Amino acid sequence: MTKETTGEGAMNRAPTADDPVGAQFIAHEFIAPEFVAPHEQRRVRAATVWLDGCSGCHMSFLDLDERLIEIAQSLEMVYTPLIDTKTYPDEVDVALVEGAVSSEEDLEKIHRIRRQTKILVAFGDCAVTGNVPSMRNAFPVQDVYRRGYVETATLNPGTPDQVVPRLLPQVRPIHEYVPVDVYLQGCPPPADVIYDLLTDLVAGRTPDLTAHTRFGR
Ligand code: SF4
Repeated sequence: MTKETTGEGAMNRAPTADDPVGAQFIAHEFIAPEFVAPHEQRRVRAATVWLDGCSGCHMSFLDLDERLIEIAQSLEMVYTPLIDTKTYPDEVDVALVEGAVSSEEDLEKIHRIRRQTKILVAFGDCAVTGNVPSMRNAFPVQDVYRRGYVETATLNPGTPDQVVPRLLPQVRPIHEYVPVDVYLQGCPPPADVIYDLLTDLVAGRTPDLTAHTRFGR
């Protein structure tokens, strides 16, 4: 991870009321030249991750359709729910992380991803703002458990104490825990914008996503 991706400046560019698009940019210094040069031999090591989200952002990724084949010339998918890799690998170049941080497992994952990834993309509104998963923040977490596992249960009511990751008291966007390099808004982000992002990163260009997507779009 570069100094820039961990710096205060990177974190402080999250979307705000005055700056709703936030840091939909990536400075060239974030991009390791050894993997972005078009003539580079090895492909970019890419990952997609699913935290507390609905999978809609991943569905939008799949909406790239035949462009997935084109992108596969430049990207090597080393970790994603769409393949069967169990462990997040070392030295990932780009990770698109869908969903908010909602459980102890999410928290462990996002720190691991940050440590082992050069460019971390907050992928979709849940990752950028908390969005839908954060609707539970208005309620104490014990009430959330009771509603989900007792009041609405039709079989064996009771809060699970194993297998299901423990919920954190609040759902928070990714940048509140680790520095984010690119904010890709949208619920979900359109496939065309995902394509622009990936092709720009692979080519070493700074993505300019502000004209193409916004919160909720
Ligand atoms: Fe689903 Fe929208 Fe959240 Fe993506 S941003 S995970 S589409 S709710």
